[in-house]
Amino acid sequence: MTLPDTLRRWAEEDRQVQEAAYRRNLQILGIASWSVVALNLLHVLVFALMRFDDPLRSAWAHQIAVAHGVMAVLMSAMGWLSRRAQATPSSALPMRLLPEGISALVLAWAVVLTVMDQAVSTSINAFVNAAIGISIVFLLRPRSIVVILALGWCALAWSLGWTTENPALLTTNRMNAASACALALLVGVLLWRRYAQTELLQRALTESNRQLERQHAELETLATRDPLTGLLNRREFVRQAELELARAKRQGSALSLLMADLDHFKSINDRFGHPTGDAVLRHVAQLMSHSLRKTDSVARFGGEEFVLLLPDTPEAEALRLADKLRRTLAETPMAGLDTPVSASIGLACLHAGDHLTLDALLQHTDQAMYQAKRQGRNQTVAAKISGPHS
Ligand code: GH3
Ligand code: MG
Ligand code: MG
Repeated sequence: MTLPDTLRRWAEEDRQVQEAAYRRNLQILGIASWSVVALNLLHVLVFALMRFDDPLRSAWAHQIAVAHGVMAVLMSAMGWLSRRAQATPSSALPMRLLPEGISALVLAWAVVLTVMDQAVSTSINAFVNAAIGISIVFLLRPRSIVVILALGWCALAWSLGWTTENPALLTTNRMNAASACALALLVGVLLWRRYAQTELLQRALTESNRQLERQHAELETLATRDPLTGLLNRREFVRQAELELARAKRQGSALSLLMADLDHFKSINDRFGHPTGDAVLRHVAQLMSHSLRKTDSVARFGGEEFVLLLPDTPEAEALRLADKLRRTLAETPMAGLDTPVSASIGLACLHAGDHLTLDALLQHTDQAMYQAKRQGRNQTVAAKISGPHS
């Protein structure tokens, strides 16, 4: 990848993480501002209490105390502003530039402090500390750091020209300040790049986790649901029925199983076409789901055959439910289709104390259902299961 390509990619990544970086900077600012205020107040105290015989030094100490006092006030205001900005979901432009503005303010203040220091020393420590400090503390886009440091260095280099008479010292200080700016730029850019990469990686991970969860849910639906009606499929029904049967045996409670086969369904397909047949199956599935209780479950067992599991339900109650279901089917034809569908229902009940297996129960419902067909369809037949079975 060529340098312009890399820079373009970086610029795009910067754009993507800009908002998150802004929010992070506001958090940092909330903490950093109070630490800086505490430090400023300490300086005010130390320099205000300093006593010198030399009026030049006294004036210098006074100026330094005032400069720190002013900074303490400004940083308090900035801390307050950052908290307000944190509470606002989307800030307007002046607020968006708060981290850059504060960085520039800190550097400008350091220039003033450094110039003041020239009265008693040749040190430019205040400027060096501020330049490196802002690049470490804030997450600033490289172009912002470049502009802030360049302006800061120009201001310092120009001001030192007024306070430093020794040309060698002037050049040394200007070059030292330039080195500090270069170091601050390097640190700032490295930290920013690492932040942008980590943030984007984190987002990619979150997205792929979401995708995995979606796929997992889809797979689960595919594995447990009938795609046409959305009812449980045969496999899932058998799994749930086995659990319920085991529970019923353990607790000695009754459990009923219904098998409903739609009557003359082939003629619906023949008269109205297969897609309408499909729609009727969906319609019947909906009616069945709505007429069940919370604890019951229904599955599409095969073509036009449905099974219903009714836990804690003795035979008499299951018969009532089966008849209610047949009435609902008869009274609720699918919209646009004048012929209602009917069903022949076979019922088998596991009485308290019985030890029938699920296969045996299913066989009984199947036989009862065929009995209902033979007896003229649109009716319910209960299987006669005599005595406890093992
Ligand atoms: P009976 O009263 O004896 O049950 O008659 P029937 O016509 O319902 O029974 P039969 O077993 O002869 O035919 C079942 C029909 O169900 C035939 C088949 O085309 C239809 N069928 C099975 N699965 C589907 C499906 O997914 N969609 C549609 N539209 N029809 C289906
Ligand atoms: Mg059938
Ligand atoms: Mg049928």
